[in-house]
Amino acid sequence: MRYVSTRGEAAPRGFEDVLLAGLAEDGGLFLPETWPVLTPEEWRALRGLPYAELSARLIHRFVGDALTLDELRALTTEAYAGFRHPAVVPLVQLGTNEFALELFHGPTLAFKDMALQLLGRLFDHVLKKRGQRITIVGATSGDTGSAAIEACRDREAVDIVILHPEGRTSEVQRRQMTTVLSPNVANIAVQGSFDDCQDLVKAMFVDAPFRDEMRLAAVNSINWARIAAQIPYYAYAALSLGAPDREVAVSVPTGNFGNVFAAWAARRMGLPIGKFLIGSNRNDILVRFLDANDMSARPVEPSLSPSMDIQVSSNFERLLFELLGRDPVATARQMKEFRSAGRMPVPDAAWREATKLFSGFTLDDPGTLAEIQRLNRDVGYLADPHTAVATAAVRTLMPDGRLPVIIAATAHPAKFPDAVERATGLRPALPPALADLFSREERFTVLPNNLGEIEARVKAHARRNSVDA
Ligand SMILES: *Cc1c(COP(=O)(O)O)cnc(C)c1O
Repeated sequence: MRYVSTRGEAAPRGFEDVLLAGLAEDGGLFLPETWPVLTPEEWRALRGLPYAELSARLIHRFVGDALTLDELRALTTEAYAGFRHPAVVPLVQLGTNEFALELFHGPTLAFKDMALQLLGRLFDHVLKKRGQRITIVGATSGDTGSAAIEACRDREAVDIVILHPEGRTSEVQRRQMTTVLSPNVANIAVQGSFDDCQDLVKAMFVDAPFRDEMRLAAVNSINWARIAAQIPYYAYAALSLGAPDREVAVSVPTGNFGNVFAAWAARRMGLPIGKFLIGSNRNDILVRFLDANDMSARPVEPSLSPSMDIQVSSNFERLLFELLGRDPVATARQMKEFRSAGRMPVPDAAWREATKLFSGFTLDDPGTLAEIQRLNRDVGYLADPHTAVATAAVRTLMPDGRLPVIIAATAHPAKFPDAVERATGLRPALPPALADLFSREERFTVLPNNLGEIEARVKAHARRNSVDA
């Protein structure tokens, strides 16, 4: 299995290199040179398997000879062993043909754990084999940081430093990061904004001597391995609902387009997913694109579903590449135009192709609260604000119940207790494993918005020389 860049100027390479590189050096995103396709017979053979087994068999199609199936199975088994539900990703029926696929039973209560719990272990496996170490640096406004820390804690070949803006994350979010006391984890509270944190991380990557000495790496959502690890749960749900012998639909609350692209990839591999509903909050660039071919960025506005407060959905480039007939020159031209002008005129034929499969739906904050309330009142289901956007999308875009719909439930309601309480009067409790979060010891360093001081802290933390040959 080899991978190509969506912008065509990076040499094709194998899974390990794609895993470690994240972004291609031409600025593009990696995709398989050819998609693996399973026959209906092969899909049927995956029905009823435990989740760790199902995910190992599907992800192995993308791994080539980087790992044996046994090695990969050991990693998926470990990655999902700590999930709080025995099914890992239980499917909960909300209506005649509506099913919530709960992706939030991992350590940080959000769907990022599905991919990152495996990614941390993949990094460790590949690096140990190569006798290398890496230092992961990242900036977070709240959620991604904790999922990355939980994924990398105690991994032997990985150190991780996460920057968050001091005093600007919720207390739950901060504590999910700062109470992880593993020696390879460091948290820095930057005296500045989230944008300052992101700029500091970018500056560290641009500082080539520092980047090389620290072997800096990122775990952001453009890493191909994250997409690959998100395909199996769509397969699990679709097979449970009758695929490959019955067509299904998906509804996904969307930010960076990673989760919904994984569903598209499952279709590309032969699963009959006939319709993709994309839920957005007021940051609705994808909806405007699908409705009117208006792909233009506007300022990001805060909402009750903060993980979707995004204007540039980085994984959209992968779909664009496919819509443009895998033409890397055209893709690069479009992305450059988008970067410089803030708007992208997608060719009419490609846009029409997209609208055949994808439909967009926008829900504002009052609508989100009303949907959380409705679900609790009519179904007895407590949904978080992200999930509620996706359930509302189904009622608006597919009221006829034509296909069974898999709704990606991306966060545990207790992760957003204020919104859920406002809507329902009920304050969802944290699961027992996190119940003592507010009494745990915290560890973090407060530093000014100054690259030199941040780099010195990263240097002091990284154990870069202890394993290197
Ligand atoms: C990250 C996230 C999303 C958006 O997922 P993308 O893959 O970026 O589209 C939606 N909901 C929650 C709770 C998230 O954490």
